[in-house]
Amino acid sequence: MKIGVLALQGAVAEHIRSIESAGAEAVAIKWPHELDDLDGLVIPGGESTTIGKLMRRYNFVEAIRQFSAQQKPIFGTCAGLIVLAQHIESNHGTEEPHLALMDIRVRRNAFGRQRESFETDLEVKGIESPVRAVFIRAPLIEAVGEHVDVICEANGEMVAARQGHLLVCSFHPELTEDSSMHHYFVQMVAQSLQLNANR
Ligand code: GLN
Repeated sequence: MKIGVLALQGAVAEHIRSIESAGAEAVAIKWPHELDDLDGLVIPGGESTTIGKLMRRYNFVEAIRQFSAQQKPIFGTCAGLIVLAQHIESNHGTEEPHLALMDIRVRRNAFGRQRESFETDLEVKGIESPVRAVFIRAPLIEAVGEHVDVICEANGEMVAARQGHLLVCSFHPELTEDSSMHHYFVQMVAQSLQLNANR
């Protein structure tokens, strides 16, 4: 099993380390053709407008949509969540979506100044122990479509969700020693490999 981390901007090395400690091989992805031999992809946090621009410039948009069309798992964290969303809201109003793959509406920088960055432990559906979550200028999920399963909330707000092969969280699971979110994703990739083998 090989999982790629989109290496246009953001915490790439940290995601690679977390995937490896969850027991899978991880590689940094700089070019669209490198998606061909991957079984799963992580889109890291950073700044979603910048990641979106770089994805367009390096022809990643169509390539990642094709990757997704093969039902290969994708995990978007923080800005990666924004990049996957079909609807994006910010203080400046509605924004053009980037990959528009997941049926969620997100709000960028949704926490007030006081709570711009903070850490907490959260219950995640499908993970036994609480997950250590680091929020940095994080987005919130404001609405989800009928095929989206909300797997984590913080103070009643939706912060992680899954839609089939797509997984998102508004926090940074790669910035702690707790690799349980990555372990969850590695299991999703293992299941999708099994499904494809049985097809
Ligand atoms: N605030 C960033 C954005 O809107 C996301 C922050 C992050 O990835 N830590 O793109």
